[in-house]
Amino acid sequence: LVLADGVRKWFGHLEVLKGISLSVSHGEVLSIVGRSGSGKSTFLRCINNLETYQDGRLYVAENLIGYREVNGKLRALPTRAIVQQRRHIGMVFQQFNLFWHMTVLENVIEGPIRVLNEPRETAVERGRELLIKVGLGDKFDSYPMKLSGGQQQRAAIARALAMQPKLMLFDEPTSALDPETTGEVLAVIADLAQSGMTMVIVTHEMSFAQRVSDRIAFMEEGLVNTIATPDAFFGQSDNKSLQRFLATIH
Ligand code: ATP
Ligand code: MG
Repeated sequence: LVLADGVRKWFGHLEVLKGISLSVSHGEVLSIVGRSGSGKSTFLRCINNLETYQDGRLYVAENLIGYREVNGKLRALPTRAIVQQRRHIGMVFQQFNLFWHMTVLENVIEGPIRVLNEPRETAVERGRELLIKVGLGDKFDSYPMKLSGGQQQRAAIARALAMQPKLMLFDEPTSALDPETTGEVLAVIADLAQSGMTMVIVTHEMSFAQRVSDRIAFMEEGLVNTIATPDAFFGQSDNKSLQRFLATIH
């Protein structure tokens, strides 16, 4: 479903992605770990057209992200086409990014009504189901400000799911939460993994990554150092950089 082939990105003179190649198949859960500044967020943001890459190719569901290719050259897509590509990708950020002036249910039905042109009744019906699924069945009419961080994050997940994405991206979804609420958000993400959703998760929660991922990638200085199944990943005792990284996170 996701194919990155030599993806490179510069911020000015700083090369942040130095040729990322990896793939994620349908229904697969890939976690990405790595030190601060290694390019994890930038890579996720490229997948979702929130940043542009400058070289290489990045495909989601066979669509070349951000560009069309003409005689081997990349030409930027018009905004309309980019909006189309983003429709199929859900993203959940560290900060919850909810609309503060709308209730939880209104947050969830906004996209389906405005972007997918769904009738209000079906959007409301599905929105309620999604909120029940993430454990917010009693919070339809609450405003985000009245919710805990964990509840807000679960509302953000429901809102992303309401767009019926093919792919879900999570960028450190629990790093702004306290330990108690972290668990409830991770449980929702684990359920989603079980349900067969294709996901890319940037996280520092190593035991969670080990438990839910089909594969884990270690990014280092804009490159994929290694990508492997959890058992193989944690068994790489001869990979010095990986061992050094793992030693720094408890
Ligand atoms: P963290 O674990 O701290 O979230 P990360 O792996 O997600 O780190 P990125 O946020 O992708 O890292 O950043 C990679 C590099 O790109 C860093 O050196 C960062 O300073 C730089 N960078 C990120 N965004 C921008 C920007 N908008 N302009 C300039 N440099 C940026
Ligand atoms: Mg980041």
